[in-house]
Amino acid sequence: MRTSIIAGNWKMYKNPADTRSFFEHVRGLIGRSSQREVVICPPYLDIEMALVATRGSRIQIGAQNLYWEKEGAFTGEVSGPMIKAAGCSHVIVGHSERRQYFGETNESVLKKTRAALEAGLTPIVCVGEREKQNMKNVLIEQFQQGIGFLSKKQFAGIVIAYEPVWAIGTGNADTPEASNDAHRIIRAQAEGHFGDAANDVRILYGGSAKPDNAKSYLVQTEIDGLLLGGASLDPVGFADIVNL
Ligand code: PEP
Repeated sequence: MRTSIIAGNWKMYKNPADTRSFFEHVRGLIGRSSQREVVICPPYLDIEMALVATRGSRIQIGAQNLYWEKEGAFTGEVSGPMIKAAGCSHVIVGHSERRQYFGETNESVLKKTRAALEAGLTPIVCVGEREKQNMKNVLIEQFQQGIGFLSKKQFAGIVIAYEPVWAIGTGNADTPEASNDAHRIIRAQAEGHFGDAANDVRILYGGSAKPDNAKSYLVQTEIDGLLLGGASLDPVGFADIVNL
């Protein structure tokens, strides 16, 4: 039985004051009984406020990126041990916006994934095709050039997010059935590399998931939760999804 996860990627939105008011609001809305894990990944500068504002709740905090070195002369970068020491549990790795605007490759995503694991963080490793028709080939290639190089022990520590790039922030969400098929392809790759451990890895869907379509993904057999961009910014909509 895989515990589902609702994760939010705030991207470059919200300041510390916005962060405090988001969590004040959302804490009163999220039911205590839900079995889902809840993770919010704010910008670095909001992490401290997020941790203070979620103390004693079941909301976990993650970062949106890390650098693979532990420390050094790397101006502007933040390392896994720093993110861990700040109090985070998760970190998003290889988001398509990082691949598109910041030159991240399968190789650098793999380095970041390993660095996150080494720091004791759970990497949420993003994969997904730019063009719908390339879905299968891209997922296989990204797996074989990335996650597939992890050890079995490392693999057991990751979460995967399937995010078709054409669906991110466009309002043009993938259908639940097609994304379930994509998740099945990822899980088959995982099984080929890691055997039975493939049954335990959580694979999230991301791409224009919203309160009104979230349930249709969460009922799919292969979909173990959601990575939300826009829908994680509004406390009411976010809590509605967590409470489904
Ligand atoms: C994302 O950025 O990871 C994402 C899924 O965005 P959105 O939900 O806004 O499509």
